[in-house]
Amino acid sequence: MQRISWDQYFMAQSHLLSLRSTCTRLMVGATIVRDKRIIAGGYNGSVSGSVHCVDEGCYVIDGHCVRTVHAEANALLQCAKFGVPTENADIYVTHFPCLQCSKQLIQSGIRTVYYAEDYKNHPYAIQLFKEAGVQTKKVELNYLAVDTNYKEKEMYVKDLLDKIQDLSDDHKEVKSLIHKAEELFKI
Ligand SMILES: [Zn+2]
Ligand SMILES: [Zn+2]
Repeated sequence: MQRISWDQYFMAQSHLLSLRSTCTRLMVGATIVRDKRIIAGGYNGSVSGSVHCVDEGCYVIDGHCVRTVHAEANALLQCAKFGVPTENADIYVTHFPCLQCSKQLIQSGIRTVYYAEDYKNHPYAIQLFKEAGVQTKKVELNYLAVDTNYKEKEMYVKDLLDKIQDLSDDHKEVKSLIHKAEELFKI
């Protein structure tokens, strides 16, 4: 048995939260952590009680959906609502924060921003993080950490593909199957 690392545990939590997103353009999750404790979480979604992008379509102005409160902002606002200090806390987000969220994270006293995927990383956000002494660290979600059968599944797919390759004459189709497996398992 291998214990999941703290980074993977919090990043997995953010990925789980992103599944609650109501905006179809991008599903984002954020987890705020202090002293290895989760103090808040958020995903990008509409203002409470309002209609959702998944039901009504996005409300796009200048290429951005304006309906949603971003995951990072929702997590910070949860802290505001319940009176939880965010000073010296860290945040784990599925995607690099947008410029507005970056400013809000700095202003809330967040010390480290862990992100799983680069997403239009704004040069001004990067500059502001540097000036404020806020660290940004890329922590990709490792499926080996969250899916205990991952290795077995990967081996099984590899074996299947080898068998198909032996039996099939259609190299093009086999190639596309192999390509798909490589994408899925990043092998
Ligand atoms: Zn939307
Ligand atoms: Zn944002």
